[in-house]
Amino acid sequence: MRTHQLVLAWIEEQLAAGVLAVGSRLPAERALAEQLAVSRTSVREAIRVLEAMGLVRSGVGSGPEAGTVITSDPAAALGATLRLHVAASQLPVADIVQTRVLLESWAAAHASADAPSLPVAAQLLARMEACTEVDAFLALDARFHVALAEAAGNAVVSAMMGSLRGAIEGYASRLTANLPDWASTAQRLRLEHASILAAVSAGDSTAAAALVTEHIEGFYREAGLRHGGAN
Ligand SMILES: [Zn+2]
Repeated sequence: MRTHQLVLAWIEEQLAAGVLAVGSRLPAERALAEQLAVSRTSVREAIRVLEAMGLVRSGVGSGPEAGTVITSDPAAALGATLRLHVAASQLPVADIVQTRVLLESWAAAHASADAPSLPVAAQLLARMEACTEVDAFLALDARFHVALAEAAGNAVVSAMMGSLRGAIEGYASRLTANLPDWASTAQRLRLEHASILAAVSAGDSTAAAALVTEHIEGFYREAGLRHGGAN
């Protein structure tokens, strides 16, 4: 085990035991290094790893903001991590589509009709009404799906959807080049979005899940298979 991993293991133990919790301050770098008999460099390295994982925030200087505080921001951290992995690998579009269906049909069925993200979703649809530029439309489209999924109130699902947003925009943009008539597809997508949002807002979970599934798979069938599924 490398020495910074000793520090990480110690912090994990403290968290699991409830000695450290969100809002707790870590011991000062020098004290922690002495206590664990490691170098201060190892402590700093461990803290940088935890920062990247969204688990601590490091304040500089003195005063109440100074020191390293346990913050825990799983949605942001998981989102950033997944986005990087999506960017780094050639993930097949068919697999992204399946994952969307899995996450979004579940989220649509479990959405709460008074979730604060639903008015956001409605605003995005209003902006898409007037939007004729393809990539701008697709960016709003992906944000609509993230907002819709957030209505289920599951932080992990929200983070995963947020992390997939860039990948969704990317494949939709590539596949749109295969479509014979973007204007008519865009109009169909607008109508489908409106009925998905209406079903979620009415608390009709069965219809909402079926509509969002058909919306995601329908676009992929129309645009993806036209190209022999090579996308
Ligand atoms: Zn859509």
